[in-house]
Amino acid sequence: FDAILLRKAKTEAIDKSEYNGIWVFAEQREGVIAPVVFELLGKGRELADELGSELSAVLLGHNIEGLSSELIAFGADQVIEIDDPALKHFWDEGYAYALAELALKYKPSIILAGATVIGRSFIPRVAIRLHTGLTADCTGLSIDPETGDLLQTRPAFGGNIMATIKTANHRPQMATVRHKVMNPIPRDDTRSGIVIQEQINFDLDEERTTWLGFEKEKTGLINITEANIIVSGGRGLKEAKNFALIEELAEALGGAVGASRAAVDAEWIAYSHQVGQTGKTVKPLIYIAVGISGAIQHLAGMSSSDYIIAINKDPDAPIFKVADLGIVGDLFEIVPKLTKRIKEQ
Ligand code: FAD
Repeated sequence: FDAILLRKAKTEAIDKSEYNGIWVFAEQREGVIAPVVFELLGKGRELADELGSELSAVLLGHNIEGLSSELIAFGADQVIEIDDPALKHFWDEGYAYALAELALKYKPSIILAGATVIGRSFIPRVAIRLHTGLTADCTGLSIDPETGDLLQTRPAFGGNIMATIKTANHRPQMATVRHKVMNPIPRDDTRSGIVIQEQINFDLDEERTTWLGFEKEKTGLINITEANIIVSGGRGLKEAKNFALIEELAEALGGAVGASRAAVDAEWIAYSHQVGQTGKTVKPLIYIAVGISGAIQHLAGMSSSDYIIAINKDPDAPIFKVADLGIVGDLFEIVPKLTKRIKEQ
């Protein structure tokens, strides 16, 4: 079914002048807006001002009063919201249907969403429904000065090149964008904007998805995307039990625990801690890489950290090329000493 729609998307010509405005999908969970939304509003504000168009936030959920004013304070000119019990919990089909129906009605030129678990899950379905393209996982957005098209930049070929992509012949132009690569504008509660309430009939097959419940991850560890200090461990730790060295150092510093993909693939720690191209992008004040070689895919997720410290026994490890402070030596000697010293202070 999806393949048929995609083939159709290639052949149908559209009138681009019918499409106007920039939309940011205002992802929220349990009434809390995802931080990436504020970053997208910051970037969206810049793009909207350049194009002379309106910036809208699209809010889906239930009992979401009060969130619209927050979105306006962070740059939205208007908020289009659907407050419906059917949208209380995130579900792919319902959210994709609602956002696509709104887009068919309003015809925005650009739709941006966070490359979060939710965004990555349902935004491709929206693109399929709208017969348009999607650039996933962008790290840069700008406007083509000649055509006014959205230029969408993202890592390609395993992170070895940065590709700039545009949706030249279809509308809306859709992109998911990584957390922590764009900057929000300062909150201004005196900004004013319009709130439009919409309603939708969910005449979808209710049997396809059943809500069973929501279980939060019980790691007790700090979320890496919000942390000021991250201590990350890699294959150099050799086995699962040694990951405790990373956790102890992170705890002593009041920081979060990160990991390379090698450590996650070995099941030493959960995927939610993975830093890099196929994990999370982080930008802490201090990033400590322990027993991590510094493969390009890992660097893609952490190289914009403010201060990088690397501990590795190989003086030629690529991680030292991005490190502000490099410690060449055996992590099994260095890390316990470091943790002890920090705890003593
Ligand atoms: P290694 O490369 O094996 O490095 C281990 C390091 O530990 C070495 O430098 C070694 O010198 C050091 N070491 C060993 N023993 C000690 C010791 N006793 N003391 C001190 N140092 C020691 N990787 C990611 O991290 N994140 C991603 O999101 C990601 N996405 C990817 C996407 C694609 C499409 C592909 C192809 C790959 C991806 N990878 C990703 C994998 C990446 O290419 C590397 O394989 C991975 O990052 C390596 O992890 P590592 O540095 O822990 O292991």
